[in-house]
Amino acid sequence: MDPDRNQDLRDRIDALRTEGVLAAACPTCGAEASFHRAFGWLTGKEAERAKADPEILGVPVRDGYVIELFPEVFLWSDPERAEVQGNTGNRVGVLHCDACGHHAKHHLTWPDDLYFRLRVGDTELVSYTREHAEDNLSLLLQVRAVPRILRPFLRDEVEMRMPPALMKDGMLEPTIEALAKLLGVSPEDA
Ligand SMILES: [Zn+2]
Repeated sequence: MDPDRNQDLRDRIDALRTEGVLAAACPTCGAEASFHRAFGWLTGKEAERAKADPEILGVPVRDGYVIELFPEVFLWSDPERAEVQGNTGNRVGVLHCDACGHHAKHHLTWPDDLYFRLRVGDTELVSYTREHAEDNLSLLLQVRAVPRILRPFLRDEVEMRMPPALMKDGMLEPTIEALAKLLGVSPEDA
């Protein structure tokens, strides 16, 4: 048998470990950590091929094959997996921190656990990932570059992406500063 015949499946499983990852605050050290899904689902022909490959470990389920993406901390047999990606906002996955090495099953409290979360006055701005936070900062900087009198014309574009209260005088600057600080960049270089 060709050992590479299921390389595409193995690549897909690797990609599942990093797909849809959220930036979370590490519960141990507070640094920016990552929150990953714990399981990947293969269905149809892919599931059949994976089941037949002794090197791809998984759990056969009624409609496919489940891959435990981080079996060292979260097994499919764990009773808590019923809460995985529920619609209630409670999500259980795996939290990994490069800074301190924390690597464990984690109940994500939304949005409290997100790393790029800030409050200016009564308004909260939450970014799901570092890229999302960078996009938000870049949007705020674009708004700042527009003369105040013209800012109302940006309203439609901005309101779709972030709370309009943050565009107000006295809110824009502190928001830019706080977000740049979280990202570890200077607002001038962003
Ligand atoms: Zn940590």
